[in-house]
Amino acid sequence: MADCVFCKIIAGEIPAATLIETDKVISFLDINPVNPGHALVMPKRHVASLLDLTQDELHVTSFLAKRVATAVCEATGSPAFNILENNGRAAGQLVDHVHFHVIPRSPDDGFDLGWRQLSYEEGRLQALRDDIRKRL
Ligand code: 5GP
Ligand code: ZN
Repeated sequence: MADCVFCKIIAGEIPAATLIETDKVISFLDINPVNPGHALVMPKRHVASLLDLTQDELHVTSFLAKRVATAVCEATGSPAFNILENNGRAAGQLVDHVHFHVIPRSPDDGFDLGWRQLSYEEGRLQALRDDIRKRL
């Protein structure tokens, strides 16, 4: 896609620190990392949402994310990692070319995901469970 920064990287039109690529997937380092070694993993085909990936694209992309996580953690000496996919603007997606973030983590690295823990009102959990189940 013409105005997609990741498509431009994939096409070799702008530079990136590429880690690995095949005919279907690519991984390169994020230019503004949460931690050093923060990598992006994505299919080469321009697709905005994870929901529009084929089963094969999702498989090869997620499997590559696992391989990249292993290599990044070894290279940075990190004992842990997050794999994140921001899907949609409200979820923080800024580049509309689906990608997984692989973020190496270490104790006291100063990165806070801000994970909150709400509670359900009476009956809401079961009602939601039933609604979701019938869509699966
Ligand atoms: P999103 O918010 O869409 O999940 O994440 C987009 C990510 O792409 C950000 O972490 C940002 O730093 C990274 N990014 C944006 N432009 C470039 C670029 O030109 N090169 C690289 N390597 N990363 C980029
Ligand atoms: Zn793209």
